[in-house]
Amino acid sequence: LPKTAEEALKFLKDNKIKWVDLQFTDLPGRLHHITVPASEFTEDSFKTGFGKLDGSSIKGFTMIYESDMVLMPIPQTMAVIPWNEGIARVITQVFWGGGKGRFERDPRHIAEEAEKKQSEEGYISYFGPELEFFIFDKVDLDVATPQSGTGYKIHAREAPWARNGGFLIRYKEGYYPAPPVDQLMDIRVEAINILTDYFGFNIEATHHEVATAGQGEIDFRFSTLADTADKVQTLKYVVKNVAAKHGMIATFMPKPMFGDNGTGMHTHFSLWTKDGKNLMYDPNDEYAELSQIGRYIVGGILEHGRALSAIVSPTTNSYRRLIPGYEAPVYLVWSKSNRSAAIRIPSYYRGMEKAKRLEYRPPDPSCNPYLAFAAILMAALDGIKKKIEPGDPVDENVYHMSEERKKQLKIKELPRSLDEALDELESDNEFLKPVFNSSILNTYIDLKRDEAKTMQQYPHPMELYYYLDA
Ligand code: GLU
Ligand code: MG
Ligand code: MG
Repeated sequence: LPKTAEEALKFLKDNKIKWVDLQFTDLPGRLHHITVPASEFTEDSFKTGFGKLDGSSIKGFTMIYESDMVLMPIPQTMAVIPWNEGIARVITQVFWGGGKGRFERDPRHIAEEAEKKQSEEGYISYFGPELEFFIFDKVDLDVATPQSGTGYKIHAREAPWARNGGFLIRYKEGYYPAPPVDQLMDIRVEAINILTDYFGFNIEATHHEVATAGQGEIDFRFSTLADTADKVQTLKYVVKNVAAKHGMIATFMPKPMFGDNGTGMHTHFSLWTKDGKNLMYDPNDEYAELSQIGRYIVGGILEHGRALSAIVSPTTNSYRRLIPGYEAPVYLVWSKSNRSAAIRIPSYYRGMEKAKRLEYRPPDPSCNPYLAFAAILMAALDGIKKKIEPGDPVDENVYHMSEERKKQLKIKELPRSLDEALDELESDNEFLKPVFNSSILNTYIDLKRDEAKTMQQYPHPMELYYYLDA
């Protein structure tokens, strides 16, 4: 893959590229694109960008009266799109038009600011998200208009009601019987081949996940903050397109199925010095080889965990996932290997500095990864700055703990709804201020309040079931 503007131009020629997709992400996290002729690309394109964007139609961007914006390609994100003949994509930075500089609500800008901030303090952070998703044959939606709204039906190759392959995945036993029980290996492998061969990913694993109906996961090697967020956007883009090519639907929504596991984006995080020392590792710590700095980081993330939820679990659907019984976190506690805890310190090995990290489990892939990773980093740095102790680890299954015991251990819960998370974000956001200015926060909160409000006004299919005869 190209590294410089010069290499990117050569790359376009070598691959006989005719059109280039300029990509960027809106504030809620959706990927957008505009296609321009490859022949328009010169070295200047990487300095002056493409004045093609009407920001007023993009969520969280601009007002109608100041809507001319410029997209600046990032050479090292250029890649061939294998399912379109002669098309490449490049991720772009968003600028105000008229030479007014970087657009501050561009999520990638926020991620880059977070990287700058940590660098000033002498740190470098690494992020390793585990992307889960469902692949369905078909989703019959009947909720698209205010007039309908009676429900939806999902069809999946492997669902008990599908019965087409002869082999069934038994309830919650998707993790992970070999084919032919796993009927989605072809799609996952096609996706990881594309990610590896065209987008420069280092794939670490792919597997079926626990849910019965077509749940999968792809894990790739950890990287720096903005680069990892680019990769999350790219992975979702590739998996959705591969599934679509097969006439199927890949979805990253956190809880598409009632009564089965949801979809998370557990995020592995570690903080290093710039000269390559993992600050989270201490071989002398008996419990988890976690350093004092590592404990402060855990403390910071737990302390701000309720406010962070509004950014890492940012949809109304996210809160249908964060319930007991489905390997999703509910309680703001930490532990070595307790999957009911919000933070886990993976301890597969001993004595391995480079593997020491924390696994933060609340995020799901409906988040904007640029904002999510920036916010996690800010909470971690706040923990270090204020020396926030995380309390004792909790190694019991918190799902089964009595209310009394939870009180005794002062265990905090994650918010139960998007509105509750937004209340928290409104009252606890000082820690984010170094990179989230008030225009970003207010715009974000307004957009999300709107989502929550619309949802609250819809009669739910289950309400018809319960109350139709009331
Ligand atoms: N799907 C689970 C979740 O909602 C996670 C399963 C796992 O441990 O990977 O977070
Ligand atoms: Mg998983
Ligand atoms: Mg995990």
